[in-house]
Amino acid sequence: MGSDNREATPQAPVPSCPDCQAALEATGRDAVSFLLVDSLTLPVVGCEVHLEQFRLVCGLTSENPARLLSHRPAGGIICPGCRRASRQPTHPIVRIGQGAVALIGCQSHEKDVIDRYRAGRETRGQLNVDGPLSESPLD
Ligand SMILES: [Zn+2]
Ligand SMILES: [Zn+2]
Repeated sequence: MGSDNREATPQAPVPSCPDCQAALEATGRDAVSFLLVDSLTLPVVGCEVHLEQFRLVCGLTSENPARLLSHRPAGGIICPGCRRASRQPTHPIVRIGQGAVALIGCQSHEKDVIDRYRAGRETRGQLNVDGPLSESPLD
């Protein structure tokens, strides 16, 4: 509820992780993985490391552990909107540490997954599982 929808849309963030950058630029079918969390199946794009982090955070608030598939899941993607989404030019990109993960689904499922990610981050913040994400790598 509530009509507080004025949250600023983040400017397309440029990840400093080169592998995420490469994955985001090559948003072809080959680069797509599939995040399975509860009843959601959402195509996602990012490097292995940051997709794994994303999966872990999303899984913190799910009933079953979130899973990541590098191939189309058996039975395919249930939602027709998500199935068509890879042809749309713009998708939300979630910053995660030094990297970024693009969500390639329909708007409502993209939002579901973003909500879940946020909830997971809060949960992790309370548990203080792995400290701040602000450490900078050596150049
Ligand atoms: Zn990355
Ligand atoms: Zn969908």
